[in-house]
Amino acid sequence: MNLNILVLPGDGIGLEVTREAVRVLRVVAEKWNHQLTLREGLLGGIAIHKTGGPFPAETEKMSIEADAVLMGAVGLPEFDNVSPEKRPERGLLGIRKTMGVYANLRPVRSYKALLDSSPLKNHLVDGVDMVIVRELTGGLYYGSPRGITGEGTSSSAVNTMAYSWVEIERVARMAFELARKRRKKLASVDKSNVLEVSQLWRRVVTAVAPDYADVELEHILVDNCAMQLVLNPKRFDVVVMENTFGDILSDEGAVLAGSIGMLPSASIGVKKASGAWTGLYEPVHGSAPDIAGQNKANPFGAIGSVAAMLEYSFGLTEEAAAVNRAIETVLNTGRVTADLRPAGTPATTEQAGEAVCQAIG
Ligand code: NAD
Repeated sequence: MNLNILVLPGDGIGLEVTREAVRVLRVVAEKWNHQLTLREGLLGGIAIHKTGGPFPAETEKMSIEADAVLMGAVGLPEFDNVSPEKRPERGLLGIRKTMGVYANLRPVRSYKALLDSSPLKNHLVDGVDMVIVRELTGGLYYGSPRGITGEGTSSSAVNTMAYSWVEIERVARMAFELARKRRKKLASVDKSNVLEVSQLWRRVVTAVAPDYADVELEHILVDNCAMQLVLNPKRFDVVVMENTFGDILSDEGAVLAGSIGMLPSASIGVKKASGAWTGLYEPVHGSAPDIAGQNKANPFGAIGSVAAMLEYSFGLTEEAAAVNRAIETVLNTGRVTADLRPAGTPATTEQAGEAVCQAIG
């Protein structure tokens, strides 16, 4: 297979973790005989420095031409006080829009070696393996009318949660298809006892369910879901929800894994004729200015994003599983970066990446 990938390392530790993720990609391509076409572009603070904007036209063009995009992280402290439209993070919104990605997937899984790093008791978190699917382009964050009117104690504010049938259906179908490839369980999260938007959400999910009769569907209210994620997270396989609920619950899911440096994510869009999705893959963490340039950052979130890319955009499930297994193998050897508090001397970013490559090879 030809893997045509755009790499956008971005800022801070984005550069360091992406370098290791690309190294892993090269090892996978060699081992499984795939042709790798890699291009590199500018996004975020580095793009502002070199071109004047966070999402240059050249990057936009390359992102349209690529089958998948691997990103590091964006953000530089020097832009902390500038207006939102001039910040590096604006580049993220730009590329998401260009690629038409409408669902954010966050795989959440526990690793035996990290059970003690989780805030939950070991027996609750051991064996957790779920994917949280968050709708990314609709709902409260984008709906209108929005805004604050009036002054002082007579001011008031409004935001609008709006979804169309089509917006709900496409993300619901994506979640069903994902569930089909996993343990065939889908939990759809809503607040249909109070919100009309959630009533439509439930109606649409129920309407498409017969097309996926092999998947067991459960509807769960968002407040109950928040509780179940800490009481019994193992019960979940794929969990799908609208934007705001997903923003909140995916962070709750994230802490189960132990360190933010461990977490991959995938933003998925159009389904191609091959059955694969276009996608944007990145670790959940930011550019971590406090440790940038020190070869200390945990590269496993970025490497896990490579696994997600192989699986969702290229359908290479065997290769994806091999990368995830290699991460687990390295975790078990304790050759890990400082954030995972290893017993001995912490590994550098580079050493941790190299260890994953060796475990695959
Ligand atoms: P952050 O995720 O960069 O860092 C939070 C803390 O976690 C820091 O102490 C950092 O050292 C640590 N950390 C993060 N990733 C790590 C890793 N891989 N290994 C070890 N430790 C790690 O969040 P922040 O400090 O709030 O934000 C820093 C900058 O990143 C800001 O400019 C912010 O806007 C940006 N940001 C970008 C993204 C993105 O690119 N998707 C996401 C979040 C934040």
